[in-house]
Amino acid sequence: MKGKVYLVGAGPGDPELLTLKAFRLLRSAEAVLHDDLVAPEILKLIPSSAQVHNVGKRCGKKKILQGEINCLMVALAASGLRVVRLKGGDPLIFGRAGEEIEELRRNNIPFEIVPGVTSAMGAAAAAQIPLTDRRASSALVFITAHHSSETKASEKDGSDWSKFVGSGATLVIYMPGQNYSEIARRLQSTGLAANTPCAIVSRATTKSQRTHRTTVRDLHRAPQLVAPTLLVVGEVARLADPVATAEEFVMPDWSPENGSSIPATLFHPFFVQSSRLPADEEPTA
Ligand code: SAH
Repeated sequence: MKGKVYLVGAGPGDPELLTLKAFRLLRSAEAVLHDDLVAPEILKLIPSSAQVHNVGKRCGKKKILQGEINCLMVALAASGLRVVRLKGGDPLIFGRAGEEIEELRRNNIPFEIVPGVTSAMGAAAAAQIPLTDRRASSALVFITAHHSSETKASEKDGSDWSKFVGSGATLVIYMPGQNYSEIARRLQSTGLAANTPCAIVSRATTKSQRTHRTTVRDLHRAPQLVAPTLLVVGEVARLADPVATAEEFVMPDWSPENGSSIPATLFHPFFVQSSRLPADEEPTA
């Protein structure tokens, strides 16, 4: 008695971006293994009779190893269940599906892959960025700023990105993290012009989505938007929705290195929060 595994993309967040097939499979699943990034509204579609395992590996939680996920998935299917392995976005984009597919093949478990809307597409829609606008770009590259421990040192600087940057392609950077200065440094080390526009898109296609447009030069002072975020880099980002990506929440660049003449008192660590402090707790430095 053998079950089957469906590697299903849940899309970037909005439940209406699920495919009909994903919806149907979720509604009839007997076991679901899902990542952290899958929206709660989507998880609500799982029938109460199904066993549900959160196998997300995000920071702060007990780490579940990829090998353990593979074993669980194989064991559930081998016991005859219809298993949905539900991943954010598309299962084949930065989703470790390769390792899971190998394991399923090794164990002769039948499986099927159901594509989803990858978050790059969700982000582009949220910020209204035509990713391959013919006046600006004819290529699109998905890259990640996140490194596995095996990544070569040479790839941790900009050298692995330079082949894409030179081609004028639009870059969509998955897992950009919060260290925007580092990303800007890597981008500029490839020779990318400092005035190249870019947009950070946070929680694309959800009710709390936010976008911020800036340039590679000013990326380091962009606000830290809530994860998950994506960074779109390239001339096409200039065409982003000016309202959705309003620049008024840019953090002012007060760093002394920037020749700022703002008084040193404003560098007091409490300054940023001071509007929320009661008067008698106002910083005095
Ligand atoms: N398979 C997924 C990507 C998994 S990697 C896909 O196809 O989208 C996880 C990264 O995806 C996050 O760190 C973030 O960079 C991006 N991401 C996922 N959902 C997102 C969302 N709603 N808004 C912005 N970025 C998102």
